[in-house]
Amino acid sequence: MQTKKVPIRRCVGCGERKPKKELVRVVKAPDGQISLDTTGKKPGRGAYLCPDPACLAKARRAKRLEHASALDQAIPPEVYEMLEEQIAQG
Ligand SMILES: [Zn+2]
Repeated sequence: MQTKKVPIRRCVGCGERKPKKELVRVVKAPDGQISLDTTGKKPGRGAYLCPDPACLAKARRAKRLEHASALDQAIPPEVYEMLEEQIAQG
């Protein structure tokens, strides 16, 4: 068995550290546009969330995505809608 280093990222909702691929990535493109990155390959800086409605709710209530240093700007409502959909799909 091979051991491979997995990148770990922190969820902005619960603050837990988890493998990056288990988290949902919200990315800010170089042009400042915020979107959801379902491939993990979009360019830009990202903030991460567990695919858990509780984490999304917490992050949204406390504006943790807005305050994430990678994003640092208002999150459009449609991004939250996309997040809700993505998380509901599991
Ligand atoms: Zn979480």
